[in-house]
Amino acid sequence: MSLTGTTAAWGVLPSEWHAACQELQQPAFRAKQIVTGLYQDFAESWESVTTLPAGLRATLAERFPLAPPVTVQTSDAEDGVRKLLLACDDGERVETVIIPSKARVTQCVSTQIGCALGCAFCASGKHGFTRDLGAAEIVGQVMAACRVLRDTAAPRPTSPGPGAKPSLPRPGNIVVMGMGEPFANYDNVMRALRILNHQQGLNIGARHITISTCGLVPGIRRLAGEGLQFELSVSLHTPDDELRGRLMPVNRRWPLQDLLETCRDYTEKTGRLVTFEYTLIKNLNDRPEHAARLIRLLRHMPCKVNLIPLSPVDGFDGRRPDHADCLVFLDALLKAKINTTMRRSRGKDVDAACGQLRLRSLNQPTRTL
Ligand code: SAH
Repeated sequence: MSLTGTTAAWGVLPSEWHAACQELQQPAFRAKQIVTGLYQDFAESWESVTTLPAGLRATLAERFPLAPPVTVQTSDAEDGVRKLLLACDDGERVETVIIPSKARVTQCVSTQIGCALGCAFCASGKHGFTRDLGAAEIVGQVMAACRVLRDTAAPRPTSPGPGAKPSLPRPGNIVVMGMGEPFANYDNVMRALRILNHQQGLNIGARHITISTCGLVPGIRRLAGEGLQFELSVSLHTPDDELRGRLMPVNRRWPLQDLLETCRDYTEKTGRLVTFEYTLIKNLNDRPEHAARLIRLLRHMPCKVNLIPLSPVDGFDGRRPDHADCLVFLDALLKAKINTTMRRSRGKDVDAACGQLRLRSLNQPTRTL
């Protein structure tokens, strides 16, 4: 973090506030007050952090602007999935999805506006790449979700005792599977995830944070050296280079052999299994022969596989496979003793596949709330 110029407040690590306070010639305890204000009291402006003197609040507002993203559209699916379209300072739009389940709430966050990788079936790259999101813009998506969770939480049966502060409801899982390629924006993404994970930040457990990459090999190598416990998913989608190269241009740069070797090294180095995402597309990669090839590819590889039936997107003529075919595919992998799950598609009626809501909003005028 540079302590000169302006840095968005949510992009500062809780541990960095000490240095910031020193530089502002403030006593060390101010750092704690700032962190408490940001992540426990959920301040949306410095003005509201009344534990701090007014002068300091004004300085912080100038040096470390605190500007919550504005929600320009919310879409609720029948199954409880809620999708938010947020406006950045420069008017660009970012989408994030809140997925409640019985056990905990999962949030899907975006890392870039648009995407340069151009996977054929993905809505995020259909309008190309616009820009990276800053760490604060990534953290800001989670703060926006916290606000939604707080505002929709059932009232507590008993009010907390005097002095007791209700804790801020927060997502239990974060999946970095929204718009963008996280490893193409490595530094900002890792900074944001460290803030989300930090005990004095949002305190979301590292094993509840999943990074998904389309297969940027240098990013996987770099993550392997970080000593962090985040989960890693790799979008595989096909069992051979020919088809993968057609669907995912990234394969031309880092073909399957390089990718799988890197994943194997990752597991050896970190002791953590990689999950391979495999989006099933009707008649393209969902046939029994594809399952057989995938089994051959992964047979000796310690890993997990997650099957995802395609969410149809504008601009790609692939179709969602029949449920029965998905089950046959799943069964083949399980019989081969490959640890496989199938993702239930949720939020279909709100375009919850990555990039879809923004794509629609670019193609149509947006309803402003
Ligand atoms: N760029 C990263 C993360 C974003 S996409 C990556 O590629 O992994 C998150 C997951 O959703 C990826 O596995 C991606 O391939 C998949 N995906 C994208 N579009 C999809 C669609 N229309 N239907 C189903 N899955 C899709």
